[in-house]
Amino acid sequence: MIIQAQIGACGTCINSHIYKGLDDVYFAAHSLAPERGILKKQKIEDMPTADIGIIDGPICYQGKEESIQIAEMVRERSKILLGLGTCAVGSQTIGGFITDDCSRLLPFFCPFLRTRHPKIENYVHFDYKLPVCSANQEGLRKIVEAVINKDTEYLKYFESPEATNVSVITESNLCMGCGTCGMACPTKAIDFPNQRPEINPEVCIKCGACFVQCPRSFFNTTTLTLRRFGQAGDPLLGYYQEAYSARTQNEDIQRLSQDGGIVTDLLCYLLEKNICDAAVVSVSRTGWDTIPEVVTTPEEVLKAAGTKYTVVPNLMGIKEAADQGYTNIAFVGVPCQIQGVAKTDAYPLGDRYYSSKINFIISIFCMENFLFRNLRSIVEGRTEVDMADVSKMGISKGRFWVRSADGNRFRVPVKHIKDYAQESCFYCLDFCGEHSDISVGGVGSPEGYSSVLVRSEKGKKVFSEFKKRIEHELISEEGMKTIHDLASIKKSTNSKTIERRKEKKERVTLFL
Ligand SMILES: Cc1cc2nc3c(=O)[nH]c(=O)nc-3n(C[C@H](O)[C@H](O)[C@H](O)COP(=O)(O)OP(=O)(O)OC[C@H]3O[C@@H](n4cnc5c(N)ncnc54)[C@H](O)[C@@H]3O)c2cc1C
Ligand code: SF4
Ligand code: SF4
Ligand code: SF4
Repeated sequence: MIIQAQIGACGTCINSHIYKGLDDVYFAAHSLAPERGILKKQKIEDMPTADIGIIDGPICYQGKEESIQIAEMVRERSKILLGLGTCAVGSQTIGGFITDDCSRLLPFFCPFLRTRHPKIENYVHFDYKLPVCSANQEGLRKIVEAVINKDTEYLKYFESPEATNVSVITESNLCMGCGTCGMACPTKAIDFPNQRPEINPEVCIKCGACFVQCPRSFFNTTTLTLRRFGQAGDPLLGYYQEAYSARTQNEDIQRLSQDGGIVTDLLCYLLEKNICDAAVVSVSRTGWDTIPEVVTTPEEVLKAAGTKYTVVPNLMGIKEAADQGYTNIAFVGVPCQIQGVAKTDAYPLGDRYYSSKINFIISIFCMENFLFRNLRSIVEGRTEVDMADVSKMGISKGRFWVRSADGNRFRVPVKHIKDYAQESCFYCLDFCGEHSDISVGGVGSPEGYSSVLVRSEKGKKVFSEFKKRIEHELISEEGMKTIHDLASIKKSTNSKTIERRKEKKERVTLFL
């Protein structure tokens, strides 16, 4: 049984339709509040004890005593009380529509819009708080389900959440430029001019969605693995069912791709077989400056072949693809981007149903990445090749190499380029995209081949057909050991870096 209470709100957190089909829902509301879709106001005195109470909105300035009284009565009648929206459980920085100056947005709604209304959390105790305005209905449904199922691991962040935006992530150098916040933002207030999110204060409505959705605010690897695969995975590589060394047989792909061309060929296969209707890939503009792009044909997929050692806000590409009407999107990205996708799927609170449009997730392995200006410094400073003349670059056998347009190769020991990596990579524990359908990398297989980890049931089904058109064999024991060793180095080294941050009381990603 659920009590939904509205004691003063702008109405943007309207959530009545998550209750469709449920019998035991009671609606308690302030006398000034409107009816809520399928919910009709009921007398709170007559309500029995509920499993969950949900309160949204601030204390109404026009009827403060009545608001407080309803909040207290709902608290009394609810075993678990959930505060919803930044008006109810926000902070000074994130105020929601009503608690901040929102006359610009709702000029005729209330004469007290310019007044900072008191928050309900000052009057009643909430067990869980959801500081997101206009939370996605699917996300809210998952939270309610978790409360009913007593999934405390899934819910633990919401016991004491922060209500803020992603500027705190960028300011603390935790941001790795994945693009998740930009995808989550309902008002398109976030752009990525320099491979980092920039918030336009004129457009930001302080809803808090970007922060909750960011994989660097909180990320519980184990919980997400269990939710996605139903069981725990290998402690270093995550859950996987099969592992192969493989190579495409398509000569054009072989020529243009980084290793075995498996990512490019698999994307082509997904589009050709109509398993996906679009793919989000990383395409270089001039001189290796790279952007996310939505592609729909094998010819376009081929243009994205090859590794670009630079940060791309690829989740913005998912938003673009979904906004263009695609509903079965294939996504390829580095592990931190896969974390953004996985978190969006597990907690779809801010995004507008984008997670339901993603049909296939391919991760590429990743040890570290570079902001474009630093990649340029490595290439032009250490190899003296002009970025515009680079035809391919890669990392193998402990060396970063660059091939120039005239065919010459230049090599730099990897240890000399580590200092150029973005700082946030040193707080990353995922080497091979633990929440993807399929992960692909170069290490562990002979040169010109890819190492492939098949994870999900969907990944297994697709790969069992796809592998008929590629060269493949089970990965060697030695190959598996190499992958394990690299994942182990990444996890142990970066865990220590995170511990040092904790000691200095600096911000870290919670529950990682
Ligand atoms: C920053 C970075 C670091 C990496 N580090 C390692 C490593 O340490 N060990 C290892 O084994 N492999 C690493 N890889 C993966 C490796 O370079 C190959 O991408 C992978 O083996 C797939 O090869 P392929 O021939 O199947 O890919 P291809 O067929 O060439 O396709 C590559 C795909 O990767 C996507 N892509 C390219 N650049 C980026 C990018 N910057 N961000 C997101 N997607 C991108 C493209 O959209 C393309 O679809 C790294 C990749 C990146 C981007
Ligand atoms: S890590 Fe990703 S979601 Fe978080 S602030 Fe950076 S770009 Fe945005
Ligand atoms: S998601 Fe967009 S509107 Fe909401 S707080 Fe972040 S930047 Fe502002
Ligand atoms: S090391 Fe981690 S944070 Fe850095 S780009 Fe790779 S996956 Fe992202």
